[in-house]
Amino acid sequence: MPKMICTKCQVGFRPEKNGVFVAEMFEDNQKIYAVWHADLWKCPVCGIEVVAGFGNNPIKEHYQGDLESMIAKIKEKGGTVIYDRESAMRKREFNEHFEKEWRKFIHYENQRA
Ligand SMILES: [Zn+2]
Repeated sequence: MPKMICTKCQVGFRPEKNGVFVAEMFEDNQKIYAVWHADLWKCPVCGIEVVAGFGNNPIKEHYQGDLESMIAKIKEKGGTVIYDRESAMRKREFNEHFEKEWRKFIHYENQRA
């Protein structure tokens, strides 16, 4: 278990719920990119919550099935779903990564020709 301290209250976070689902969003927060399993932690003083303890890999990624229905089913069964919305910074990082991979691919294709 990770140890985490609330910097405002100077006390340790407590596990609030083991096993929550995180929907990682993409495409301007319109679609789910991946679903992760993690734990919810809470500061016993101010009540701020954080999600931590992610697995190494997501449960499912967008190319492996309909994640929107998966999330809907989890909610129906009373599961906790937390959204990891795409920030402007993360979007920039993703685009830069994609551009770099694309350039590598083009370079490889040109060498083959
Ligand atoms: Zn606190």
